[in-house]
Amino acid sequence: MSEAHIGVLALQGAFREHINMLAQLGVNAVEVRLAEQLDGLDGLIIPGGESTSMGLVAERWGLVKPLQNWVHAGRPTWGTCAGMILLADSAAGQKLGGQALIGGLNVTVNRNYFGRQVDSFEAELNVPALGSDPFHAVFIRAPAITAVSAGVQTLATVPSAEEGNEEVIAAVRKGAILATAFHPELTDDLRWHRLFLQIVEEFRACTA
Ligand code: GLN
Repeated sequence: MSEAHIGVLALQGAFREHINMLAQLGVNAVEVRLAEQLDGLDGLIIPGGESTSMGLVAERWGLVKPLQNWVHAGRPTWGTCAGMILLADSAAGQKLGGQALIGGLNVTVNRNYFGRQVDSFEAELNVPALGSDPFHAVFIRAPAITAVSAGVQTLATVPSAEEGNEEVIAAVRKGAILATAFHPELTDDLRWHRLFLQIVEEFRACTA
């Protein structure tokens, strides 16, 4: 059981599912809608949903700068799907004009990489960081990471949607930032949430 204070950005999207997963791990996570709710958190999850809508609500509620400050300070943050798009320093194929909305993760994402016609699919991913059992990943209008910069560790890849490109990156870690193109909160496999809690505990130990 972790004593960590985890917040889940609750502007739009699959935030309740993350909170339920964390509850199964004994963590009472809170919904974050206001900048001051970031104070005192040990970790933040930015859920999947619609990155444009989430970005618009974040702008309207004055959350963009506080979220940027949070992530740029290197605090534990996990973005799933739309959350991953918002964390990427650069994004292709999106309405945000290629601008990072929050940024802090030095990767390039391609929004809706797998194409709208393939709305969603599932794949067994090999994720050494989670152990030897494959992870059953659910991709929903998912982005992919097409380029990474220094210090970014690839945790999982998935067969590419484009000919000639064998694989694209579906999960990365950089320091205390975790990003997954798929939705672990829509499965009953708790291993990604456990990994994030471990990152939070490591960070707490370093900053205590
Ligand atoms: N394609 C969506 C977006 O651009 C993300 C989809 C998701 O989070 N499942 O925001």
